Amino acid sequence: MSKHGGYLTPKAIANRMKAKGLQKLRWYCQMCKKQCRDENGFKCHKATEGHQRMMKIFRENRGSILDKFSKEFEKGFMDLVRRRWRSKRVFANKVYNEYISDRHHLHMNATIWSSLAGFVKHLGRTKQCEVDETEKGWYIKYIDKDADALAEKDSLKKKEKMELDEELRVRKRIEKIISENESNPEKAASTEPTELKRGDEEEKIVFKLG
Ligand SMILES: [Zn+2]
Repeated sequence: MSKHGGYLTPKAIANRMKAKGLQKLRWYCQMCKKQCRDENGFKCHKATEGHQRMMKIFRENRGSILDKFSKEFEKGFMDLVRRRWRSKRVFANKVYNEYISDRHHLHMNATIWSSLAGFVKHLGRTKQCEVDETEKGWYIKYIDKDADALAEKDSLKKKEKMELDEELRVRKRIEKIISENESNPEKAASTEPTELKRGDEEEKIVFKLG
């Protein structure tokens, strides 16, 4: 088999398609939601009246549009993480590849993040994910705040119940003593605390040796 024997294997084909798809991401206009075939197609698109109109809108509202696109990208990415991996640690690139496989995904080049690494660091800073960098690249782990909050609420409830149980136990003990005292006044009198009296004559301890 030649060096290029694997050219037609499904994996090689898939890889080529992925590379082509990734390259195509560059020729996408987020403002017009238009995918162009290649660099030339993108050039032609940029010259259209429709695109010029959209770019005028973009220039006038640059900040708010970037903000909107960034939020949409973040939401789409995080929804996917939550749905597919929940709190499992996952390779950020894997999530990204799955995210962009949706034809209608919001493109990262229309956001404030210029790279996946930059976006991942943002997820770490905003405490949405635990992030760590390896030789291979970045890994993320979704921080499940809902589950954390639920667990905290649960332990708080348990604590409250324990306190209530203790209060009930004490109250019952008091009620028992009161009812016993009422039914037996003599015993009640005898159990009243009395001043400790020391006998007049202190006991003498005699040691007998031998
Ligand atoms: Zn356009």
